[in-house]
Amino acid sequence: MTRLSEVAAEAADCTKCRLADGRTQVVFGVGSADADVMFIGEAPGFHEDKQGEPFVGAAGQLLTRMLGEVLGVTREDVYIANVIKCRPPGNRDPQEDEIEACTPWLVEQVSLIQPRVIVTLGNFATKFVLQTPQGITRMRGRTYPWHGRTVIPTFHPAAILRGGGESSRQFLEFRDDFGLIRETLATLNNTETAAVPEPATEPVPVPEPVTVREAAPEEQLELF
Ligand code: URA
Repeated sequence: MTRLSEVAAEAADCTKCRLADGRTQVVFGVGSADADVMFIGEAPGFHEDKQGEPFVGAAGQLLTRMLGEVLGVTREDVYIANVIKCRPPGNRDPQEDEIEACTPWLVEQVSLIQPRVIVTLGNFATKFVLQTPQGITRMRGRTYPWHGRTVIPTFHPAAILRGGGESSRQFLEFRDDFGLIRETLATLNNTETAAVPEPATEPVPVPEPVTVREAAPEEQLELF
């Protein structure tokens, strides 16, 4: 049993906030404990609460499709979680004390998985992780250095489905953001290869520059 699955087992009995009363089960997270990329959404919805897995409804299907089509990976290759691990009744917004009670689980997940890239899905996760009042439309399309990792904010897939689907500009931007995730991972991997060079038979590829806006330290969540 990995330490991550031990923590998941502890979380399964969590009663630290009122959301424990209405949930079917805790939706801790899914994917690889060694993932390079971690996706963070808001909170489980109806289907997630029933199945015990994040992003399994229509929004999740869009996310899974983008993973395959743009990143060439499956859900098992990445890690997917939410800020809040239990479904808020009627999918209402999580409340301050619920967020506070649930944060230690996310801190554990990030500390154990050590993802190089964190993708925040939508306004809620982006504002929470980067501690910014800026909305997702302003924040997306760029990378943000964060506690030795890279955060890439993008739209919540449910917002794409609500806002005109695949013919919308939002969808194209969403797809572009997955392209940015792919490039960022390639750059990080190239940098690693360049640091420990093999006897070269061909030139080491030069990483593409990554657009970075340094979030002010006071904007960042001092937890990781
Ligand atoms: N929306 C989220 O933010 N998370 C889920 O797991 C499902 C829908």
